[in-house]
Amino acid sequence: MTPDPADSRLTEIHSSMNQQIARKSLWTVRGLGLPAVVRACPDCSCTRHLASGKFRVNANGKLLDVWLLVLCAGCGRTSKVPVHERVHVRDFDDARRAAFEDNDAALVREAVCSAALAERRRYGLDWTGTWALDTDMPFASLDRDLRTDPAAANTEILVGFELPVPVRLERLLMEGLRLSRGRVRALIDEGVIRLPAGLRVSGKVSADFGFRVVFSSELS
Ligand SMILES: [Zn+2]
Repeated sequence: MTPDPADSRLTEIHSSMNQQIARKSLWTVRGLGLPAVVRACPDCSCTRHLASGKFRVNANGKLLDVWLLVLCAGCGRTSKVPVHERVHVRDFDDARRAAFEDNDAALVREAVCSAALAERRRYGLDWTGTWALDTDMPFASLDRDLRTDPAAANTEILVGFELPVPVRLERLLMEGLRLSRGRVRALIDEGVIRLPAGLRVSGKVSADFGFRVVFSSELS
């Protein structure tokens, strides 16, 4: 296995801190519900569709079609989102086919949350109201803990996603640390909040990541 560049970066940070042990904290982007599928309804002007929790699997000779069934929030009309089209049965894993036929809840969740499927089938996903951030680590408490716990000078925060919600990183930091937008930006510029390479504060995140809050004056 090749070492994760993030790991070697962490090792570097650790060694530069003279055995100072990073304190860890876990934030969770908790899923409250599935996103709405946004596409035109042929029967009404509503564009929001909710997951019905069901798939339809159709075998036509040796070819299989799988659709995700969604319901218009306005009129209740069922629409079909193609998940697999004309796939040869031979190329289809038996367990996966059975899971589609059983309307497996995890598979429904995977299909409804899939940005790739939404892009392929040209519809939008509305994630409004589908998540909440669980954290007990406001910035003020980090600051306060410094006086009693030297490890607080270097805190690693791991953010776990229950659903792949695309959240603006800046908003996540503001909410999690209970800071204003300006303060978050300033702390990033000062190197107190350290984001992993490749993540921009103005960008979106939708999968697990970690970042650090380092009070450098405490490290020298
Ligand atoms: Zn409708």
